[in-house]
Amino acid sequence: MRAAAYAAGMTQRLVVIGGDATGMSAASQARRRRGVGELEIIAFERGRHTSYSACGIPYWVAGDVDDPNALVARTAEEHRARDIDLRLGTEAVEIDLDGRRVRTREQDGGAEAWTGFDHLVIATGAVPVRPPIPGIDADGVHGVQTLDDGEALMAGIDRRVVHDAVVVGGGYIGVEMAEAMLRHGLRVTLLERDEQPPPA
Ligand SMILES: Cc1cc2nc3c(=O)[nH]c(=O)nc-3n(C[C@H](O)[C@H](O)[C@H](O)COP(=O)(O)OP(=O)(O)OC[C@H]3O[C@@H](n4cnc5c(N)ncnc54)[C@H](O)[C@@H]3O)c2cc1C
Repeated sequence: MRAAAYAAGMTQRLVVIGGDATGMSAASQARRRRGVGELEIIAFERGRHTSYSACGIPYWVAGDVDDPNALVARTAEEHRARDIDLRLGTEAVEIDLDGRRVRTREQDGGAEAWTGFDHLVIATGAVPVRPPIPGIDADGVHGVQTLDDGEALMAGIDRRVVHDAVVVGGGYIGVEMAEAMLRHGLRVTLLERDEQPPPA
């Protein structure tokens, strides 16, 4: 129905790429300013969670937070109830600026589709530096950016007998993760290439 209104030029469409803090704040603010009859809002998030607190991942790994769902500030259902068409597990893989459309791929099954837009917000976050060293993609090597990363880390700890953890990077996230690993009873080594850890 809404897609038909957009296709007929009766409403405009905002497409948001990235469904965490920035993307869903933009989508929510747009919905507050424009009603459903004026603006259709579609948000694509390639992960399985939306509006989560990445800041809470070390506390969840440490056991201070029991359930990763406690780190979700607003669920997909809550966004959808506010007329934001949030599509999880859907990655934007190409932007056709001339055609004003985005190509997406579903993480399950790989189905692809083009979605037109009048307005586009790119809120894909920053990418943590993964040093180009041998073994960086080996099993048991984890990053911590998204809740999906946190789930993979926790599953790794549950699945195998783990005695030692090495944390690469002595910034505040590295120190928080080192403390979290200690709470699992592991021997922890924290590696920092500078003489001093970065200031907090
Ligand atoms: C472990 C950790 C601890 C932190 N602690 C603190 C703290 O204590 N205090 C503080 O202020 N900040 C902290 N931060 C930083 C804070 O979490 C970020 O500033 C904030 O998450 C940025 O939000 P964002 O929406 O811009 O980006 P992100 O949170 O990175 O979200 C980007 C989203 O875009 C999605 N995405 C990426 N590419 C695509 C694509 N092509 N198609 C569809 N979706 C895509 C990703 O899956 C992701 O969900 C921490 C971050 C981490 C990782």
